[in-house]
Amino acid sequence: MLYYYYFPFWESFLTACGAKVKLSPPTNKSILQRGLELAEGEICLPVKAFIGHVAVLASEVDYLLAPRVVKPVKKGYSCPKLLGLPDIVRGLFATTSKLLFPLVNQERERESLADWLEIGRKISGLSYWKLKRAYRIARCVQQKVEKSRQRVGYQADGGLRVGLIGHPYILRDSYLSLSLVERLRKKGVEVYLSEEVGRNQIRRAVSGLPKPLFWSFEEELVGAALFWTQNNLAYGLILVNSFGCGPDSLSQVLIETEISKHREMPFLNLIIDEHTSEAGFLTRLEAFLDMLVWRKINAG
Ligand code: SF4
Repeated sequence: MLYYYYFPFWESFLTACGAKVKLSPPTNKSILQRGLELAEGEICLPVKAFIGHVAVLASEVDYLLAPRVVKPVKKGYSCPKLLGLPDIVRGLFATTSKLLFPLVNQERERESLADWLEIGRKISGLSYWKLKRAYRIARCVQQKVEKSRQRVGYQADGGLRVGLIGHPYILRDSYLSLSLVERLRKKGVEVYLSEEVGRNQIRRAVSGLPKPLFWSFEEELVGAALFWTQNNLAYGLILVNSFGCGPDSLSQVLIETEISKHREMPFLNLIIDEHTSEAGFLTRLEAFLDMLVWRKINAG
């Protein structure tokens, strides 16, 4: 899950400490099945998949990294399930001595730094100064990758432009998202991803909301939807979220309410879980795209 946000930092820091970083394979049927067997039924699909990934890795590594992300940005919390990932791992797997769960909190940088230095000391034995240097370099690597993810320019090439709103751990996971991004691109749709919208653009887009958003990853979703709408960049928006996700159910209502204040924006909400039927998912997608094409032709 958090791999999609923080992997550049993790890899850079751990490699500098001399560790060999091992990743679980991309999500597949058997990984999800393991997650389903171990997870509590009410939990959202991405966390079930996460548990399956931990099950695959747990016996193959010396340490497992599952950071506790409390505040990914200043004044914004992560969802309670993301916050509790280390506790889920500890509860389900007997890995207490293997588990590394550094704090990620943009308002408590000293504590986060201390946690990472402690991890570095544990796995490498490098000096304090070398570890601190590795930490700084890893932060720079992370910032560069985050910057390169941001879309610069929205040149219209006459194709159908669709804003895809969803957490990267859903949209970039081909198995969980039923290859939605790839399918849209194959159909010639120009796809904009919510993770490509920069933080400043998000902040500006949500600045008119009556209240600041409590969850920072939700702010990303709402901010991206508003940014594309306010700047007239997309013909339609698709929100993909997981059944059982509390924060997304609020974002969905907020997005629908707010975009309708700006202009008539076609909006499709696809909710996924382990029972999602591919046929039903595709039928809704096809119908939505047909409607967008029809609107585009009739708008001249
Ligand atoms: S934001 Fe939703 S999908 Fe993501 S971890 Fe939390 S409950 Fe699950």
